[in-house]
Amino acid sequence: MSETKIALVTGANKGIGYEIAAGLGVLGYRVGVGARDEVRRESAVEKLRAAGVDAFGVPLDVTADLSVTDAAELVERQAGRLDVLVNNAGISGEMGPGWIQDPTNAMLPLLRRSTSPRIVNVSSSVASLTRQADPDIEIGPVMAAYSPSKSFLNAVTVQYARQLADTDILINAACPGLVATDFTGFQGPRTPEQGAATAIRLATLPDGGPTGSFFEDDGVIPW
Ligand code: NDP
Repeated sequence: MSETKIALVTGANKGIGYEIAAGLGVLGYRVGVGARDEVRRESAVEKLRAAGVDAFGVPLDVTADLSVTDAAELVERQAGRLDVLVNNAGISGEMGPGWIQDPTNAMLPLLRRSTSPRIVNVSSSVASLTRQADPDIEIGPVMAAYSPSKSFLNAVTVQYARQLADTDILINAACPGLVATDFTGFQGPRTPEQGAATAIRLATLPDGGPTGSFFEDDGVIPW
């Protein structure tokens, strides 16, 4: 195996990704410049090479599975292996009120009319990063969509709790446990009635109760 280490940086044509590629290049890595736009990719590769970096271009749109498998084949052809993968590519999305990240809050005006408004987001313990990181807790296979979707829901719960802190609205996330429904192919040990208990408790919290937290039957789940 050659001594030179091989790195692939996604979104390496500009910004932080470009500088990660440049920095690894200075350290002696051979660097794959992952980028979706040919002109921007080749321009970055040329610039890196001019700075003495052993760089090669990798056409890569991280949102397209075929592009990713093609990129893996290219790296295999170019280097035969990969020592470092930096998943850097990302977009911030539009920012500001009324933009795409400002969600539809159609129910909020109605909730504000209530004397004791409550919001319950039905989450799952698989959203808990703390539990997933705990080697003493058994976890299943990687669920790269479902589990982060519930971590996302938890994150939104926390953001809303902060935004609504000066109102009477209490907003929390609930884990029902593993429940026998269509969703689980009726495999769970808990009944739907048992699964509903925590959500009902959070929906009927007394004024001044907890907000911006994550619960199961036994109490708080760590984020
Ligand atoms: P830039 O907008 O400068 O660069 C983003 C890079 O990602 C570009 O090369 C862009 O390529 C690429 N990219 C976007 N979508 C795709 C895609 N579908 N496939 C392949 N490449 C794509 O952003 P930054 O350098 O600031 O951000 C880099 C990372 O750092 C992101 O993951 C961001 O979330 C993270 N980050 C940034 C912070 C900051 O303050 N800037 C703070 C915290 C985290 P193209 O030119 O084609 O658009």
